[in-house]
Amino acid sequence: MPAIDPDDHTVAELTDELETVDDADELRAILEAERAGQDRDTAREAIRDRLEEIGAESDGVEAEDESDAESDDAETDADEPETEAEEDDGLSHPTRDKRHVRALADGDYADMWVFCETQGGELLEVSTEMLGKARELMDDFADEYGDEERVVAFLMGDDCEGLAEESIAYGADVAVYHDDHRLERFLHKPYTEIASHMARGEGSIESTDWRDYDKPRYVLFPATNNGRDLSAKVQAELDSGLASDCSDLFIEENEVSNPVKTGEPGVKKTFEKVLHMKRPDFSGFEYSTILCLDNPGREFHPQGCSVIPGSFEPMEPDHDRDGLVVEHDMQLDDDWFRVEITEYDRLEAGIDLTGHDVMVCLGRGIADDPTRGMELGLELVDAFEDAELGITRGIVTSSYEFEGHVEGYATEERQIGETGQVVAPDVYIAAGVSGAVQHKVGMDESDTIVAVNTDTDARIRDFSDYFIEGDLFEVLPRLTEAVEAGETALEAEAVADGGEDDD
Ligand SMILES: Cc1cc2nc3c(=O)[nH]c(=O)nc-3n(C[C@H](O)[C@H](O)[C@H](O)COP(=O)(O)OP(=O)(O)OC[C@H]3O[C@@H](n4cnc5c(N)ncnc54)[C@H](O)[C@@H]3O)c2cc1C
Repeated sequence: MPAIDPDDHTVAELTDELETVDDADELRAILEAERAGQDRDTAREAIRDRLEEIGAESDGVEAEDESDAESDDAETDADEPETEAEEDDGLSHPTRDKRHVRALADGDYADMWVFCETQGGELLEVSTEMLGKARELMDDFADEYGDEERVVAFLMGDDCEGLAEESIAYGADVAVYHDDHRLERFLHKPYTEIASHMARGEGSIESTDWRDYDKPRYVLFPATNNGRDLSAKVQAELDSGLASDCSDLFIEENEVSNPVKTGEPGVKKTFEKVLHMKRPDFSGFEYSTILCLDNPGREFHPQGCSVIPGSFEPMEPDHDRDGLVVEHDMQLDDDWFRVEITEYDRLEAGIDLTGHDVMVCLGRGIADDPTRGMELGLELVDAFEDAELGITRGIVTSSYEFEGHVEGYATEERQIGETGQVVAPDVYIAAGVSGAVQHKVGMDESDTIVAVNTDTDARIRDFSDYFIEGDLFEVLPRLTEAVEAGETALEAEAVADGGEDDD
């Protein structure tokens, strides 16, 4: 029997005990004992981690253990590529080679980092919104835990020192920036490399001597197109997780009994300083709270999320606030700039959807033929004297391929709802829209709401004045005809007569 009997310990205790063992044979004996006893996955992983830490070769018990694990995998994962040729088909998962990455154990973590996205030499509004929320969270954190941890803005671009200073005015304590003319526009490879490098504190002394931790405790990214891209890549690089599209955040302790997290069935464990990341799910009918908790012997930091623009209020900028502005130093590989932006368009000022008599709003019900769906919506808009076309966020975030003549209508500036525009026309026609709560708050003050939907259980039915059960590809042309023939939208139910049910 080895000096440490794993059966006497929870996995968390065993992980601590293992720190005192530097002898590979002793560790293998402990692994044997674990396999002969409770045979807990997390305990075996902790022992293997320790073997790896002391640089022990894979042999003996460990090799046997790995091959067991492999045969388990083989049983459960029939799609795993078997030959080298299969692996190299160019379609393999891009993070395939990260399968055996080990995250930190017993790392030091501190501060809330905020990625401040910029555009055209300005901070995006969502960047200031996240800084405001981060300030509030970290002020509360200091009150609750007595530790003064900081809000750290991080950004990159061409000539962005001024924006780093501005982020201090919006609530950051520290702003780390990387300047390079090639970073004027978002490019995912260099942005990912720089952000991960900053977060790990691997820059020069000049850029890192203000911090003494391994990785940030928390990190926030904007849920914009670029922010979504960057957040996923950076969190993968840092061996952590990501809660995407969050609309509320708070920090609290959390007690869990999941054995994957506690290392032991029937044991409860309290995690401190947990970032609770709330996001609407099931088309916004329910909120989920996502937590990023450590496993025994494997830590997941930063706890990170992307934040939907418009979710928080920025603080009033205070240009006299004190803060530290740090230039980040790193050699940028030319190879990271192989993608060159040769042309770009700047969108004109947004479209004001408010103040129209009629709003025709299209949702993901157009999925079967997005271009045709958009054309039908526009034809109905044209049939009215004063109407505009709106869309749901479902369309904004879809990957529908629209033909050029309607493509421009699928952009965020036409989005209606909580994070889009709020409208209250006389008539609101929602075609192929489920009625998620985030959509509802942008339109439920409309005088008359007409819904066209194939699903009679769609939530929108609860707050519609007229519900037309039917396929929008059939109903919209008939509505257009009816309006052109001089009928009013309020008579829309009549259009559905003869074939479709209505109520
Ligand atoms: C933080 C946050 C903020 C958000 N803000 C907004 C916001 O401001 N605005 C917004 O809209 N959403 C917002 N959302 C997204 C929201 O939760 C929903 O996901 C979105 O509104 C769903 O869009 P949809 O109704 O087009 O799609 P779906 O929910 O997929 O609904 C499609 C509907 O079309 C119907 N349908 C299918 N085929 C047909 C057909 N041929 N004819 C007729 N009907 C058909 C289906 O029955 C279904 O009811 C937000 C989400 C988050 C997380």
